[in-house]
Order: sequence, then C-alpha cells, then structure tokens
Amino acid sequence: MNTTLQQDLKDIENILEQVKQQGIDFLNVIDSVPTSTQNKITTNRNLNDSGFGAMSALEEFNQRLAPLMVSQAGPRYWGFVTGGATPASIVGDWLTTIYDPNAQATKAQGGVSALIEIETINLLLQLLDLPKSFLGGFVTGATMSNFTCLAVARQWFGKQLGYDFAKNGITAPLNILSATPHSSSVKCLAMLGIGSQNFTKIKTVEGNREAIDITDLELNIKNLNGKPFILISSAGTVNSADFDDFNAIAKLKEKYNFWWHIDAAFGGFAACSPKYKHLVDGWKNADSITIDCHKWLNVPYESAFYLVKEQHKNLQIETFQNSNAPYLGDPLENFSYLNFLPENSRRLKALPVWFSLLAYGKQGFQDIVENSVMMALQLDAFITNDESFELLAPTRLNNVCFTLAGEHNQEKVNLFLTHLNDKEKVFMTPTVYQNRKGIRASFVNWRTTEFDVQLAIAEMKASVLELGIK
Ligand SMILES: *Cc1c(COP(=O)(O)O)cnc(C)c1O
Repeated sequence: MNTTLQQDLKDIENILEQVKQQGIDFLNVIDSVPTSTQNKITTNRNLNDSGFGAMSALEEFNQRLAPLMVSQAGPRYWGFVTGGATPASIVGDWLTTIYDPNAQATKAQGGVSALIEIETINLLLQLLDLPKSFLGGFVTGATMSNFTCLAVARQWFGKQLGYDFAKNGITAPLNILSATPHSSSVKCLAMLGIGSQNFTKIKTVEGNREAIDITDLELNIKNLNGKPFILISSAGTVNSADFDDFNAIAKLKEKYNFWWHIDAAFGGFAACSPKYKHLVDGWKNADSITIDCHKWLNVPYESAFYLVKEQHKNLQIETFQNSNAPYLGDPLENFSYLNFLPENSRRLKALPVWFSLLAYGKQGFQDIVENSVMMALQLDAFITNDESFELLAPTRLNNVCFTLAGEHNQEKVNLFLTHLNDKEKVFMTPTVYQNRKGIRASFVNWRTTEFDVQLAIAEMKASVLELGIK
C-alpha cells in the first residue's frame, strides 16, 4: 500500500473525528452563514506529485474553499427549489459513503442494497399514498427521472406503431403534448432524440394559471385522429406551483390512447398534507411520475426517483437493458436496476431517504410541507400589502412569484434582485412570468422559520430604499 494511504488508514479515527467536529461547527451556525459570495477561487491549482494525506488536504480545503461555501442548505436560500439535509438524512448519506455498496441487483451482487432501495420506494409510496402498482428507483435528480420516464414513454409510443425505437432508433415522429413543461423535460426531449421543439403546446386554463386547459387538450387529442401520444403534465409548476387537473386527465385516459407522465418534482409532496392532498387527486392513474427527494424531502443532493407502472416493465427493460454482458443474466429473471434506468454502477441513494422516512414518519413530512406553505404565505402577505411589490401569481403552495410594483420598474427587477442577493442574507432567483420579469422565492427547506421570513422582508425593504425604487 502507498505510504500516505497507509498513514491515513492508521489515522482514520482522528480524521473522521475532525470532520465530525467541522460538520457540527458548520451546522451550528448555518443560519448566519452567507447565502451567496462574491469571492472566487482560481481554478488552476497544480496537482502535487506525492500526496500529503487527508488531514493536509482538509487544511487546504478549510483555508481556501470552506470559507466560500454558502448556506445553500440553510433556512434563507429560496432560489430554485432548494431543500436542505435533515439530521437523519445526513446519517444515511454518511453511511452510504462508509459502506459504499454498488446498488444494482437483488441477487448475484453479494449484498442487499437493491432490496433496501426497493423497500425505500415502498415507504415512499406509503408516504405519498400511491399504489404498489408503481415500480421505482433512484436517479440523480428530477431531470434524470423525467429522462427515465420519457424514455420508457418513447418506447411505448414506438410499440403502438409496431416499432422498437430502442433497437432501431426513432423511425417515426412522436406526438408530445404539454402545457407548461419544466425546462428539464424539454431538455429530455432533446436528449431523447425527439427534439426540444417537437411538442405541441396546449393552452393553459384562463386566468392567472399555468395548468393545462382540458378543453384545449381534448381538441388537440382529436386532431391526432386516434394516433398515440405522450402527455407531459405538471404537479407543481416552478413559478406558481400550479397543478394540472389529474381527475380530468384520468377521464381522458379512459377514452384515448396515451402515455401519461407527471412531473411532480416538488409538488408531489402536497400528498403529505390533508390540506393540500387534493392537488394531486387522481395522479395514481398516471403511467409514470417524477419526484425529487433533494427538494422537499430534504435529503442531500443527488436524490430523486422515478415511478413507472409495473405493467410497463417490459418496455422499461427494452429501453435500458444492459444484458449483452452474459454475467448479468436474464433481465426478467434477475432483477437489477441497471436494466431499468440510465446508470449502471450506482451509489445507494435510497439510504438517506430510508433514514429520513423512519426518523420523521408521515407526521414529520406533513409538518415540513405545511410549514413551508405557511412561510410562503407570510411572504405573500407582505408582498400583497407593501406598495413596492406585487404578486405575479397567486401563491398556491410553496412558491411566491412576485415583482416590483409598476410597469416602469420592470427594468429594475434584476438590479433589485442582484442587490438583495448581494446582501448575502437571503437568496432568490429571477424568472419571467407571463412576459413580465419577476422573482421567485421557493420554500422547501425544513429549517425556515417566521424569523427568517421577517429577516428577508427587512432586507427587501432596505434594498428598495437603497436603490431609490418608487
Ligand atoms: C427541480 C425540478 C426539476 C429538475 O430537477 P433536478 O433535480 O434539478 O434535476 C424538474 N421539474 C420540476 C417541476 C422541478 O421543480
């Protein structure tokens, strides 16, 4: 063994002790760590010939890099849709690294990590009140989950016309319908060879809505004259957290032949609360669903899962099978995740989720979801009552989409946001909503309290004054 490695192995107790203490120290002050930084690093460090061991690497990290780490996992990082990491999820994440299994097969792998993953999916189905007719697995994020689901949908579409796209490539144009697809679904259409522009945009419901207009949807379906299609629907759009009407879509599914995919990256967690559960009513009838865990479930990146109905198992294997390696066996006989999703070797991403679900239970996640919505409504109340701001969309769940009041301030929106973010107390992201420049604050972090909302409001007011916005 290399001598530095040998030294590190001997010193492992001390090394992990240091890291544990550093973790505790950071988590103890995460509330006051800046939410952004304007400092940069030079990225051209030379690689040394001989290593100097984990402790020295840690020293350099602490000197050069750690001070630039922002509080993305903290209570006032409201940009994108950013969750944090609960204590139990950190335990699961650390242990995933320690045990470092390759989560693939239930047999012939020498371990049970794939079974832990299946158990975790079953726990998630219970949390979200979804039927066991869904089979699922973990991928890195909702983008990869959308990719996995839409890849199976693509294979389904080919089969309807008698083609095998997985084997022969795309030999017929696909019909894709969607109203407000997340940018990642559009990216998936590009990655899947379908083409990012090759979808039909369905109208949204009249009024300030992003949900699909069911009448327009049916009109477009009729225009297809009985041809199959793929519907990409939304449980929680990123700007206004709007939900498609899943009961109405389920009714259409009785009449027409289509693959129904739901992107429920964060909105799926509405199912955790009796107050918001109605938003996903009927979603169990979908063919596939995308859900992120590194958002509202508050586990560390990278964690999301796909759900695909078991009846489509063969289509999924046709899409992803890796069975030309003889030692992997028959994909129908020997279950292995590598025949069901893009990756082959995989981290046991299920473990942080498993720990979280056991540690906090249904009640824990109901509380997180309801608290997030309450915090969103407090910010909403401020914006509604303050003359410097106006809402762009009603706050339906956990996302607040707003702007500076008045058309004349449209060019100042980005200036205001940069100014606010540069104060490093709260972080939000820019958006464009119905052709107006706006700002989004998304609440999914388990730590956020009323105090944080008040602190952010104070910074917003100060920014308006400092910039002289009227
Ligand atoms: C965040 C998000 C995605 C993309 O998820 P990643 O985890 O960043 O890949 C897709 N769809 C929706 C609705 C999202 O909110």
